[in-house]
Amino acid sequence: MNPSLAPVCTRCKSADSVYHRPYSGERLCGRCFSETLVERVKRTINRFNMLEHDNRVAVGVSGGKDSLTLLTVLHEVEAEWPNSELVAVCVDEGIRGYRDEALGIAERSCRELGVEMRVVGFRDLFGETMDEIASRDRELGACSYCGVLRRRALNEAARAVGADRLATGHNLDDMAQTVMLNLLRGDTIRAEGFEPGGRGLGSYVKRVKPLCEVPERETTFYAYLRGFELQSVRCPYAGEAMRGDARRFLNQMEYRRPGTKFIVYQTGLKLASKGEVEVAGLCPLCGSPTSGGVCRVCELVGRAKI
Ligand code: SF4
Ligand code: ZN
Repeated sequence: MNPSLAPVCTRCKSADSVYHRPYSGERLCGRCFSETLVERVKRTINRFNMLEHDNRVAVGVSGGKDSLTLLTVLHEVEAEWPNSELVAVCVDEGIRGYRDEALGIAERSCRELGVEMRVVGFRDLFGETMDEIASRDRELGACSYCGVLRRRALNEAARAVGADRLATGHNLDDMAQTVMLNLLRGDTIRAEGFEPGGRGLGSYVKRVKPLCEVPERETTFYAYLRGFELQSVRCPYAGEAMRGDARRFLNQMEYRRPGTKFIVYQTGLKLASKGEVEVAGLCPLCGSPTSGGVCRVCELVGRAKI
């Protein structure tokens, strides 16, 4: 093989490299790529004090590559912690075709890893599926409803399975996009939503993001190396326009200036730690923890039913 095309791995110095990390200059073989990804997740978990050795961790699993990467890496990390447990929590929004396929993938992955899986549905929790909500006259895009309701569903599921932590598959790109979106909308970055180690809101299970420093390109490559089943169906409601714009912008910047996403994410961390954490109250309608008044879920479900 032409050595300029496949230089040797800069870490183990023996195998051919298959992955180039422009921001660090590393060229890695598959094995070193996976090992360094897992090491980074471990460092992130420690730095933000995300998990303790005896936690029961609910892992939000959608069936997409990020959540399968999260589940697989946590399964590996957790093998060193005999008193900890994982349980996959999956949300069925009720999106025909799309979510059915993803839940099937999630189920097979959980079975392979021997991880218990629990599914909670929008219909049971909120009385309506996402397909029903989407078919109504509504002011907001489908994703605005879906995002808020799914966040609540995951919180409820984590509590129902008796978890101490709720881990979600947000990667570095998601984090950097969130920073950009907040800036573009003129919002402050809310610490309880952004901080990877989770501040937790009221009685909800503390939410952590172990993949927050792993670029999406790397979760994709990890998924490829592990041979994860991929979704073939796209969500019919996909298209949160502004997040797509932020994604494109960040991808362009990252290409020209490797490391941009990490800098944007770190800026977000600084801004979030300065933001005030609002005192949590309880929603007068559903009793869930909220930053004040009627919670967003009740607002949206109420509005969806008009
Ligand atoms: Fe929900 Fe939007 Fe994602 Fe579809 S694309 S699953 S509607 S958030
Ligand atoms: Zn190597």
